[in-house]
Amino acid sequence: MSIEEKGTISIHTENIFPIIKKFLYSDNEIFLRELVSNAVDAVQKIKRLAALGQYSGELGSPLVEVAVDKEKKTITITDNGLGMTAEEIKKYINQVAFSGASEFVEKFKDAKDANEIIGKFGLGFYSAFMVADLVEIQTLSYQEGAEPAKWVCDGSTEFEITAGSRATRGTEITLHVNAESEEFLDNHKIEEILDKYGKFLPVPIKFGTKTVQEPDGEDEEGKPKTIGAEVDNIINTTNPIWTKAPADLSDADYLAFYKQLYPFSEDPLFWIHLNVDYPFNLTGVLYFPKVKNDFDMQRNKIKLFSRQVFITDEVKDIVPEFLMLLHGVIDSPDIPLNVSRSFLQADSNVKKINSYITKKVADKLQELFNKDRKGYEEKWGDIGLFVKYGMVSEEKFNDKAKDFALLTNTKNENFTFDEYREKVKDFQTDKNGQVVYIYSNDPSKQDSFIQSANKKDYDVLLMNSPIDNHFVSHLEQKLEKTALKRVDSSVADKLVEKDEAIESVLTEEQSKKVAGIFEKAITKPGMHVEVVGLNPDELPVTVTMDEFMRRMKDMAQ
Ligand code: ADP
Ligand code: MG
Repeated sequence: MSIEEKGTISIHTENIFPIIKKFLYSDNEIFLRELVSNAVDAVQKIKRLAALGQYSGELGSPLVEVAVDKEKKTITITDNGLGMTAEEIKKYINQVAFSGASEFVEKFKDAKDANEIIGKFGLGFYSAFMVADLVEIQTLSYQEGAEPAKWVCDGSTEFEITAGSRATRGTEITLHVNAESEEFLDNHKIEEILDKYGKFLPVPIKFGTKTVQEPDGEDEEGKPKTIGAEVDNIINTTNPIWTKAPADLSDADYLAFYKQLYPFSEDPLFWIHLNVDYPFNLTGVLYFPKVKNDFDMQRNKIKLFSRQVFITDEVKDIVPEFLMLLHGVIDSPDIPLNVSRSFLQADSNVKKINSYITKKVADKLQELFNKDRKGYEEKWGDIGLFVKYGMVSEEKFNDKAKDFALLTNTKNENFTFDEYREKVKDFQTDKNGQVVYIYSNDPSKQDSFIQSANKKDYDVLLMNSPIDNHFVSHLEQKLEKTALKRVDSSVADKLVEKDEAIESVLTEEQSKKVAGIFEKAITKPGMHVEVVGLNPDELPVTVTMDEFMRRMKDMAQ
């Protein structure tokens, strides 16, 4: 079979490439992700064909190689995948972009970044023209009797297919890098991009060689010697832990992977291995980090992959908002990666994934709680914030979390909601039959109120985390017949009859006098002065404020 053909592609637009170049330019490093992904796909395909018995030749060791030639100003991506025949080049390479060209021109206005364009129009291969003005394919198909083929295109709509020179199965793509893109001829730059997108690709990616120390016998003293040896520099881990079964992994594996992703982080608290294949496909490992004060720094730490190709660390909408502080990876071919945000929010898979993650996190917390209450309580300081945030913002999560959420009091004791009600209901019920939970949002400032409450056998909850303001209102809405009062509020002092039993050493008249003096000094509405007594361990005078008035005031701030 002789393959020699020249042709012109007829499209309405004279030249699609200037448009592609212009629009993809801001993110042009993506070209490498696309070409390497194609090479990986090609290798995976030949493996599958072999497994299916449709290919019986040598497989060789699967490899994709990236090389930079600074002199010639080229970047080549070589794979030993399934290769292409000339017919296939025409079908897969020529048609891909060109057939969709008019549609592309029609729609490119709406696309916001390179990701969108590439995904929508199957322009993965053509992203090469963002950095190259001439692209060459040398390929040899696995098919019996296939002849090597060569395709060259200079970025115009003209291509040329001729007999190729490749002697072994697979494809070599050479980019003649254009003048504006010479930064990509730098080894460090390429390595950086490969590391970003390809760190966990399923096929070994070679980029040059490196020197390693290998054992080399012993020296005179019998100590082991090493010798430097040149080996392939493989930039990726082909089977990262999220692709494995949880049963095959130890805690050390999960921790090591965490360290690989976030080298300078403290160990995480725990993790959740995600693995589902119906109704959508998703794998991943999510880690609960130790909460630091700089929440913003910790956001967007989840990396999104599609078939082990890194896509983005923008996982908004896919991961519920309240879990945005989690770390780890999610890999799903079912997340539409290349469409706009609004579409993503409406996508049914994305919604399902979002609730799946919520459920998994809730189940994991329940499991930790059931299995090891003490260990769970120790972690509560770190996870409490997530849980409360989740309860406030997601009804479904709230329904589950109410069984494992903890309330912590000023004595640092933890209770579930049910336990707490049981604990305080006999002491802290008001005249209307509501159980009153007393809380402090600033224990250092409210210490005297806390002490005084404790003396009356009232329990005081700690509500001093950033979310607690909302959490207090949330609890009031969700817990039946329950009111929450801040420890310095006036109501906290008037709960049960026994208050009245505390005897003041002052006569009623004297008390009034003292109260009058304090009241004069206080002008804020809603404030109350109470003169309790003058025995040494009693606060003689308390100044309190209506819970309602105080909340109004807080809201106005
Ligand atoms: P996509 O990968 O989304 O299909 P691309 O534009 O990246 O779109 O590639 C178009 C097609 O070209 C691929 O589907 C594949 O059939 C073919 N192709 C590209 N690169 C290779 C390669 N290295 N080996 C074999 N076929 C390839
Ligand atoms: Mg592709």
